[in-house]
Order: sequence, then structure tokens, then C-alpha cells
Amino acid sequence: MIILAIESSCDDTSVAILQDKKLLANVVSSQVAFHNKYGGVMPELASRLHVEKITYVIKEAIATAKISLEEVDYIAFTQGPGLIGSLHVGMQAAKTLALLYEKPLVPIHHLAGHIYANRLNQEFQFPMLALVVSGGHTEFVYMENELKFKIIGSTLDDAVGEAYDKVARVLDLGYPGGPIIDKLAHQGNPIYPLPLPKNDRSFDFSYSGLKSAVINLIHKLEQRHESYKKEDIAASFQKVATDILIQKTERVLKQIPVRMIAIAGGVAANQALREKMQNLIDKKFKNVALSVPSLSLCGDNAAMIGMCAYYRILQNHDNAPLDISALATYSIEKF
Ligand code: AMP
Ligand code: MG
Repeated sequence: MIILAIESSCDDTSVAILQDKKLLANVVSSQVAFHNKYGGVMPELASRLHVEKITYVIKEAIATAKISLEEVDYIAFTQGPGLIGSLHVGMQAAKTLALLYEKPLVPIHHLAGHIYANRLNQEFQFPMLALVVSGGHTEFVYMENELKFKIIGSTLDDAVGEAYDKVARVLDLGYPGGPIIDKLAHQGNPIYPLPLPKNDRSFDFSYSGLKSAVINLIHKLEQRHESYKKEDIAASFQKVATDILIQKTERVLKQIPVRMIAIAGGVAANQALREKMQNLIDKKFKNVALSVPSLSLCGDNAAMIGMCAYYRILQNHDNAPLDISALATYSIEKF
């Protein structure tokens, strides 16, 4: 089975080709350089850049995989959530190919895709827990079985990646802030005490208070003309931002038995988070397997969409084209 997958939910235009679970091509065209000067993603610009790039990226993926479009069996695409103009470009490209080559369409939930990025490295063991950490989401997703998602905790306000990006903006570090802060944090010391956000018994998160605490800290230091190192601010923020993810994960794992934990989304690339999660599992949950996606598959990419589509197609035994209108919801639980 050959799957062509398209991802265009935010600022990456990506097309992947999979032969069953084997990745033949994963072309990602990043728009970061275009959005950098605005300090964040400009939705209108993102849509226009997708329009410009999508055909080239499809061609490149086809050439890399050394297949022809006629050989493709399914066209998968990111249905949502994401920027509507950006999603629209990928969806229209997918629909056009599906119509032209008479192939079934497979709409995929973006966060389900992030979770299935792990599957390119490792088989899943159910029941499992996924910690989805991205620019727009911070969620615990319980998966009793293949493609069964239940959100058991989520952020009440900002997402963790969003907090990284906002702190980076205040420190004038550029966009996206996550990788820059992660790097700086390793060169500094966490000397500034910051409150552990939503440090309670729930499985939910809150990052807007932490973001404000960092902004207030910087303002206070500047008002007092006290010199500070950006590295130390980054280290102090990163410590608290990741500690709370680990504390809450420990709480969930103590209460809900699972065989595997996977981290997913852009923030899954964070070195501190990866190390602390490994420590937690090694020290306290030896029977739980840990899955982390390859660094190259943490950000948005079509390989993860194709992988998730593969399992969806296997479940859809009659191979009938999937009804998109019936799936016009962005809730991962209704996926
Ligand atoms: P996504 O929303 O899944 O596309 O991921 C993008 C988000 O991940 C942005 O908010 C980035 O700042 C964040 N991110 C990427 N790499 C890292 C990292 N190493 N540490 C923390 N956040 C990161
Ligand atoms: Mg994403």
C-alpha cells in the first residue's frame, strides 16, 4: 500500500510517501525564515507560502520516493487543528490529487499524527499514555487501543511551546523560541526562583502564569538596572516548564496503569524534557516503555500524518473512501 501524505497546518509545507510503514520520502519546506521577523507565524503569509510551495514539495517527494502518482493508493492530509488558510491549501491539494487519480482521501487529526510520529521508530504497547507538547497544545492523551484517544488532562490557558515562544520574544531571541531557549538553558543556571505552575493534584496544566512571572522578572531586573544573563533566565524558565511536565506525568502514571508513554509534538525535541522523562521512567516506572520521536520528526511533518493514515486505513477494512463531512470535528477524542 502506498500512501501520499500532506501536512500544512501551520508554517511547514510537507509531503511524505510511505510504502506500508516504510518511509520512502519526507520533504519538509519550512517557512521559519519568512516569519522570523514578525516574531511569530503570520497566518496570511503562511497560507500564501503554502500555495507557492505545495506543488514543488509534492514533486520532490515523488522524485525522492521514485514512484509515480499513479502508484499511490491513498491520499492522506491534515484535517485540523491548525491555521484554517494553511490547512485549506493542503486539503485542496489532497482533494485535487484524489479526484484526478481516483484515490481515496484519508483525513488525519494533526495531534494524532504527532503521536504516531513515534511509530516510525517503535511499535506501540497499549494501553499507553501520550504527552502531547506543542506550540498550541499541552495534553495527556490516554490510548486504550489503536487510534482510541481520550484526553485526560490539558492546559487551561497557554501551551508549553507557546510559553517558550513568548519568553523568547521578550528576551529578543527570535522565533521559534523553543530550540533557542533549550540551547541557552544548557549554558546558564536556574538561579531565579519561579512558581511551579498548577502544582496541584489535577492532570491539567497552566503556562500563562509562568510566562507572566518570567516577563515580570525581566522587567524588575531591568527597572533596577541589574544585569542578567539571558542564559540564566532561560535555564530558570526551562527548569520549571519541564519539571511540571514530569511531576504531572508521574501523577498520571501512578494512577493510570499503562505499558508505554510517548512524548509528541514540537516540544518533544526539548533535551531537558527528554532527559528528565528518561530519568523518571528509569527510577520509578521500570515496567513502562518510553517512546520519543526522532528529533527530525518532532516538528510538523507529513511522515507522521502518513503513519497515522496507515493505521486508519487498516482499521477501515472495506477500504471505502472516508467520509470527510462525518469527521468535521477537531476533537481528537472523536477522531
Ligand atoms: P508544533 O506546534 O508541534 O509544530 O511545535 C512547535 C513548537 O515547539 C514551538 O512552540 C517551538 O518553540 C517548540 N519547540 C521546538 N523545539 C523545541 C525545544 N527544543 N524545546 C522547547 N520547545 C521547542
Ligand atoms: Mg504541530
